[in-house]
Amino acid sequence: MRRVVCPGSYDPVTNGHLDIISRASRLYDEVVVAVLINISKKSLFTVEERVEMIGEVTKEYGNVAVEKFHGLTVDFCRERGIPVIVRGLRAVSDFDYELQIAQMNHQMAGVETMFMATNPLYSFLSSSLVKEIAQYGGDVSGLVPEPVQRRLARRFAES
Ligand code: ADP
Repeated sequence: MRRVVCPGSYDPVTNGHLDIISRASRLYDEVVVAVLINISKKSLFTVEERVEMIGEVTKEYGNVAVEKFHGLTVDFCRERGIPVIVRGLRAVSDFDYELQIAQMNHQMAGVETMFMATNPLYSFLSSSLVKEIAQYGGDVSGLVPEPVQRRLARRFAES
């Protein structure tokens, strides 16, 4: 069985993430979305909320599992015997950093990284921009799936 890991913060998951996850789900037997627990980075949603949202919006693909993790992505891969990571590339600006991480992951654990070029519809899209827009009541439909839109509105209404 060919499996792949899509690691990230997903705070929250966007249509750009979903584009990559859905395309990976057509290429591999199983996609494991690994949601990073990063205690030093302040997140809007808890890791449990992020996992729940991704689970909800990827249910229809049928071969996507969602798990939380902390530590190194290569350890996550090693523990599950998954030799490949998929990362989305939005622009050249993503490339420098991604290349360095990919080379380090290969050096450390022999884990391969496959880069998938973003659908140009989403090349400007990031979770942080979505949060900024939603915070000021802007329209994020078309940028995030409907359940995420609702959660964003609720979260900012609370604060
Ligand atoms: P990280 O904090 O590790 O960058 P993100 O949650 O921002 O994690 O992203 C996870 C993955 O999704 C990465 O491979 C990233 O390049 C990709 N990604 C993020 N935004 C987009 C987008 N708009 N289109 C395609 N891929 C994206």
